[in-house]
Amino acid sequence: MARKRFGQNFLTDQGLIDQIVRAIDPRPGQAMVEIGPGLRALTQPLVERLGHLNVIELDRDLALKLKTHTQLQVIEADVLSVDFTQLSAQIHSPEKLRIVGNLPYNISTPILFHLLQHVGCVLDQHFMLQKEVVDRMVASPATSDYGRLSVMLQWRYRMERVLAVPPESFEPAPRVDSAVVRMVPFAEPPKLHFEVLHDLVQVAFSQRRKLLRHSLGVWLEMRTQSPSFDLQRRAEEVPVSEYIALAQALTQGSVG
Ligand code: SAM
Repeated sequence: MARKRFGQNFLTDQGLIDQIVRAIDPRPGQAMVEIGPGLRALTQPLVERLGHLNVIELDRDLALKLKTHTQLQVIEADVLSVDFTQLSAQIHSPEKLRIVGNLPYNISTPILFHLLQHVGCVLDQHFMLQKEVVDRMVASPATSDYGRLSVMLQWRYRMERVLAVPPESFEPAPRVDSAVVRMVPFAEPPKLHFEVLHDLVQVAFSQRRKLLRHSLGVWLEMRTQSPSFDLQRRAEEVPVSEYIALAQALTQGSVG
């Protein structure tokens, strides 16, 4: 019986499972972590190719069953409490972590932001998410989907939609469409203070219908630096590169 509070929608479409595993392309010996293995729909084909797999499962009953599998290292925990940087060090792999999962949709955005804090130890990420969330992640400026999530992820990852997934692929079927996204961290990301970018993007999109001078403009006035920035636009019109440049200008001198 699926538990709604754990966002449990189990993948049952074997053809789709094969497509996802092919998109992930697991290789023997790679250090991989699966978030929310559930009933092992992805776990089993992944571990057959990898030889060993680390899984993070919050549901105690599911975790108990998973622990009987000799090729799985089961971490029974809330993924939001897992220190992936520490986990990566414990795994002792010469390569960075590959992270995958059909995520619990109720906490997918917090998971994406949590992983952003550990991006330094990540090789790539493949996630099944609600289609609307993927739309927002990969959105271009001047579209209604472009927002805080787009900017906060696009500055750090190259992202692409890999597969579209209909509700019938799951049991029970979710009420929404789904999609698989690939996220690859940039090897040489722009140098900036994460908190500065985080705060300014949050302020900019707090009133997305208004011109930026009413939101970001006021916020900038409160700071000692006043970099030149066109505030006669709406937040959704500003490309990621300009948010990055503004964050860099605001932290200039304090970032190596
Ligand atoms: N991977 C399985 C599949 O594709 O059929 C299950 C996917 S289901 C959408 C989400 C899984 O994440 C469930 O197994 C659920 O118990 C687990 N889960 C929910 N919240 C979690 C959390 N905070 N930390 C770790 N796992 C969680």
